[in-house]
Amino acid sequence: MVQSSVLGFPRMGKLRDLKKATEAYWAGKLSTDELLAEGKRLRLEHWKIQKDAGVDVIPSNDFAYYDQVLDQIQMFNVIPERYSKHNLPTIDEYFAMGRGHQKDGIDVPALEMVKWFDSNYHYVKPTFQDNQTFKLSDDPKPVRHFLEAKEAGIITRPVILGPVSFLHLGKADRDHTVDPISLLEKLLPVYEELLKKLKEAGADVVQIDEPVLVFDLPSKVRDAFKPAYEKLTALQGSSGPQLVLATYFGDIVHNFDVVDAALQKTYALHVDLVRHPEQLEKVIEHLGPKQILSAGVIDGRNIWKNNMQKSIEIVETAIQKLGKERVIVATSSSLLHTPHTLDSEKNLDDEVKDWFAFAVQKASEVAVVAKAVTEGPDSVRSTLEANAKSMKARATSKRTNKPDVKKRQEGVSKEDHERKSAFPTRYAEQKKTLKLPLFPTTTIGSFPQTKDIRVHRNKFTKGEITAEEYEKFIEKEIDDVIAIQDELGLDVYVHGEPERNDMVQYFGERMDGYEFTTHAWVQSYGSRCVRPPIIVGDISRPKPMTVKESKYAASKSKKPMKGMLTGPITCLRWSFPRDDVHQSVQAQQLALALRDEVVDLEKAGIYVIQVDEPALREGLPLRAGAEREKYLSWAVDSFKLSTAGVEDSTQIHSHFCYSEFQDFFHAIAALDADVLSIENSKSDAKLLKVFIDEAYPRHIGPGVYDIHSPRVPSEQEIKDRLSEMLAYLKPDQLWINPDCGLKTRQWKETKAALANMVAAARFFREKY
Ligand code: GLN
Ligand code: ZN
Repeated sequence: MVQSSVLGFPRMGKLRDLKKATEAYWAGKLSTDELLAEGKRLRLEHWKIQKDAGVDVIPSNDFAYYDQVLDQIQMFNVIPERYSKHNLPTIDEYFAMGRGHQKDGIDVPALEMVKWFDSNYHYVKPTFQDNQTFKLSDDPKPVRHFLEAKEAGIITRPVILGPVSFLHLGKADRDHTVDPISLLEKLLPVYEELLKKLKEAGADVVQIDEPVLVFDLPSKVRDAFKPAYEKLTALQGSSGPQLVLATYFGDIVHNFDVVDAALQKTYALHVDLVRHPEQLEKVIEHLGPKQILSAGVIDGRNIWKNNMQKSIEIVETAIQKLGKERVIVATSSSLLHTPHTLDSEKNLDDEVKDWFAFAVQKASEVAVVAKAVTEGPDSVRSTLEANAKSMKARATSKRTNKPDVKKRQEGVSKEDHERKSAFPTRYAEQKKTLKLPLFPTTTIGSFPQTKDIRVHRNKFTKGEITAEEYEKFIEKEIDDVIAIQDELGLDVYVHGEPERNDMVQYFGERMDGYEFTTHAWVQSYGSRCVRPPIIVGDISRPKPMTVKESKYAASKSKKPMKGMLTGPITCLRWSFPRDDVHQSVQAQQLALALRDEVVDLEKAGIYVIQVDEPALREGLPLRAGAEREKYLSWAVDSFKLSTAGVEDSTQIHSHFCYSEFQDFFHAIAALDADVLSIENSKSDAKLLKVFIDEAYPRHIGPGVYDIHSPRVPSEQEIKDRLSEMLAYLKPDQLWINPDCGLKTRQWKETKAALANMVAAARFFREKY
């Protein structure tokens, strides 16, 4: 029999129950016992959902109150003393590491949190000390949760993060220099102990994740697999469980010399056949003689209904070579990255609802594929027929086949990507029209989103005020921010984005081809969830999206008004993309829609236009090389296509929330934006060195203060910062602006900070 398996299930619950519980706990409104009881309730519910769906191998220890890596940090006692010394209750020490603790005289910031591979989930980075030791906690969570499920009559497969990934995904603590991977030998006994305890508790199989195998690894890290897995596989079947070694989000072919050795001794190997189906053949060739293949064919990263025929074909190919006993059907990765259930969506159009599958539905899909290959397609005939019908409906739908959009894409030429002239000519023109001083000051777009704004937006959405009333309110907000900018003496104004709920959703709602959900939340970090819009079809722009507000603002201001758009890559990355056409195609459609907007803004008298692309870097493929270059090439093209339709005299800005460009500076330069505003206040000004090293000719506004904190930077601080920047940038290259938009700030600190920023700019203007 071919088993079905899920690698992990989302934790939040149907109505973001876990978010509500943890936030209530943090606010002191829920006791520890109540929080733990809610966690237990959710775990049971999620196991039951998978069992009822017919999943054979159900995971445990995939649940976490904050983050699964943080669980492991605490379980192995990788707890820096600044947290442990307060003797907080276990759960509070855990949250202190996850989100900081500022209470009862204790004041510690959180451990660093970073993106989990190329997903939108963030994990807490293990931080190791020079004299790091490891110790397994007394009552390890994987054992506890295994027993909890067992008591409920469900035998689960515990999931743990493997030792090499745990070390490689971590870093040395501040003021420490230890190379994490050098700690392997010290760490392994703790894994052995944990595996033995799991076996004692009755767990015959354990999933051990080594997702770093999809990276290009330094040789020290590659070499670590052999000793690690020789040790851990030696326990298999005797004092330890069988191990399913899981990889996801990439292919592992380039690391096969590693896999070949000790890894072949693991009971099973899981690979992602959604992202990299082509690795199947090579993976099969490299399996050990009895090793089982866990075939990840149901996408754990998106919301699309699975194409059953395609998955069955892949699994059948594997079965032909390996036999039914040596194949497991699985989700490609944990389902953590998909929303809970489609059943909660009451407002979706029936046509598109039929195209989606969230975690609950994906659990059933895994079971269906396993049944189809075990008992033959007839055993699930009606399901397969319905699936084929749905696939066909989507492929032939009007939404996914808009002849106008396709035709326009076919007509896109190389020249459409290029501005009329090179930067020096453009700059000369822009100087004439914009008449900006040296060291021009500006902001990144949004001004504080006050309670008043949120209340009005809510009332408007609920129909409690009319469109005219709402419009009047927005106009008044724009009047106010213009008056404030007059008072501050800024040089290039913004309208403040009061009408925007979110920088992607706002545009999605104004384009054809997008759908929105009411409950499709996915965990981003801790209790924070996001609800990305979904690109369901060909994208087009029925009418201008931002011209009205920008034009109004321009009519009221004395200085140049900057139009504000979200770029094609950011629209794509912060949505659920289609899986039926390549992302480059979707990016180009978005780019064409935005190009029209850019041109319309220019026609409306807006001669400075900023196209934000903060998500450009996170789209970078996990491995350097050809795949990364390909991505950068179409990503850069889409930005250029969206912005190149304007006259030389119109100034194109772009914005990024970071300044680490070293790995892909050529792409940043290729954007050919007249001005880049970037985060820089929290980073080293040295990062700007790349701009001189590469003789970057255009203009740059490195952020002079952090917008995440209410702290007001002094004029002197900003001057000091500017002096540092001038070591790397020419005076007439430098713009002066904050790190990012100001929507999360209050007015009080915003005005004070900007006043100091303008004063610092004036000081330098005098000096030069
Ligand atoms: N223009 C946006 C703002 O100011 C940019 C936000 C971002 O970079 N994340 O809010
Ligand atoms: Zn930003």
